Amino acid sequence: MTYEKRSDGRKMDELRPIMAKVGIIPNADGSALFAAGKTIAIAAVYGPKLLHPAHMKKPDRGIIRCNYNMLPFSVSERARPGPSRRSKEIGMVSGNALASVVDLKRFPNAVIDVDIMILQADAGTRCAGINAAAMALAHAGVVMKEMISSVAIGKIDDKIVTDITKEEEDYHDGEGATDIPYTLTSNTKQITHLQLDGKIQVNRLKESYEAAKIACEKVLDCQKRALKGEDIDENKESKK
Ligand code: UDP
Repeated sequence: MTYEKRSDGRKMDELRPIMAKVGIIPNADGSALFAAGKTIAIAAVYGPKLLHPAHMKKPDRGIIRCNYNMLPFSVSERARPGPSRRSKEIGMVSGNALASVVDLKRFPNAVIDVDIMILQADAGTRCAGINAAAMALAHAGVVMKEMISSVAIGKIDDKIVTDITKEEEDYHDGEGATDIPYTLTSNTKQITHLQLDGKIQVNRLKESYEAAKIACEKVLDCQKRALKGEDIDENKESKK
């Protein structure tokens, strides 16, 4: 038995419907929502501002302090509130992905706080969080060398699939499922974040990168349109 059909009817290279909007949290310096299907993330940016505690200050550059959290009822089995090993790891990789495109030398001794909150989770939450955070940074007016866009590519059995869901991640027949979240820069197409959960041959990994490039281009288009003030909801657009 091979994986022939996706449970939600999408083509192998099709993203879930995207929602994207900036300016959703008036008190923040920048904010955004990014959703892919049932995965919904919001991000708020505060700063750049003087860093406290003082011992963390870097006299030659600023830092990005990124927090990732899930609302307790974002998943069917209530997520425990507060930091966990998983949330700390995702906060760190998301912050690193963002830091690679921000010229932090412009902000000595400063911090840019980035808070990512997952409102609803159906896999790919780190990618949705990074997409929202990148939009929120741009919305805050933080100068970025390039934009970043993120998507999780999967290998389910022998098929490369774009933007995998939790149900797909849990596929155990045949070769099972491999989850590969990618974050790519908009112009130079560099990888600023790549993780791999499962196993995959090198030639198939290259294939997954090609799928990520195409998918990230679509994500980028939505991020850019949202930053121009559009309220993007592809769920509504597909019903038109
Ligand atoms: N998940 C969950 N409870 C948790 C953590 C994760 O139900 O405490 C689910 C949730 O749907 C999440 C998915 O498992 O999106 C995959 O989690 P993973 O750690 O692979 O990160 P993600 O794909 O969300 O970036």
